[in-house]
Amino acid sequence: NKMLFNDRIMDRKNLVDIEDRGYQFGDGIYEVIGVYDGKPLMLDEHLERLERSAKEIKLNMSSSIGNLKTKLEELVSANSLNEGIIYMQVSRGAAARWHEFPNADTSTVTVAYTRAEDRANNVEDQGATAVLTEDIRWLRCDIKTLNLLPNVLAKQEAVEHGAIEAILHRGEIVTEASASNVFMVKDGEFYTHPADNYILNGITRRKIIQLCEALNLKVNEQTYTVDELLNADEVFISATKLDVVPILKVDDHTIGDGEPGEITKQIVKEFRSLY
Ligand code: PLP
Repeated sequence: NKMLFNDRIMDRKNLVDIEDRGYQFGDGIYEVIGVYDGKPLMLDEHLERLERSAKEIKLNMSSSIGNLKTKLEELVSANSLNEGIIYMQVSRGAAARWHEFPNADTSTVTVAYTRAEDRANNVEDQGATAVLTEDIRWLRCDIKTLNLLPNVLAKQEAVEHGAIEAILHRGEIVTEASASNVFMVKDGEFYTHPADNYILNGITRRKIIQLCEALNLKVNEQTYTVDELLNADEVFISATKLDVVPILKVDDHTIGDGEPGEITKQIVKEFRSLY
């Protein structure tokens, strides 16, 4: 089992410096990329988002995006990964622990590894349940940073209720879920929170919007309330490797008739045809 450490592909081992800023402050960014049939899906889009996250937190990556792409592809073949994910993160580096940025000559630390995972077909076909919880995150949820404590707490709440996800709301407004985006369908149209600072603009989310446009299905990138969510005809979540999962129940409230909806099933099918 191999990992990427800065510019080197090597045997996986524990190399974290105790003063790595990712470790101490969550001062870094990351991506999770799905791998299907040995190929990373939408790798360019993930790397573009990584580049944007870096810019937004003023992190100067020591490695170019082009070089990263080559290294990640190398890593997938070094691990003979057929189906699974690549996890990669870039921290602002290891330096004496002070909150402000370290000296400009401190190199960022890039790590990546792969994890084999089966296809999520079952849950995609059968659907799952979700819980609602207040979105207590900061106001830059558009940046994919290592700071995930609110997401961790929300997901744990979901798991303790036997649910797949925690759907987050800021007051009345549904934002996204702890590790996925949320869509609802009402009267044949899709609704999803606009890609602003309150959500992470998922690569899966963007792809679904493109698929809908190609199918002439209307997507409204506009906010909607918890009440509207609970009264939707269909609800689904989207994320890397999870793809599209119908949500049949939110807390004690059944969505639609409690079965995966026809429109959601169509999106599941369309998404699968991408790989
Ligand atoms: N929203 C949050 C908070 C996430 O952590 C994720 C990550 O999976 C997503 C949305 C979905 O993004 P993507 O489709 O790029 O995986």
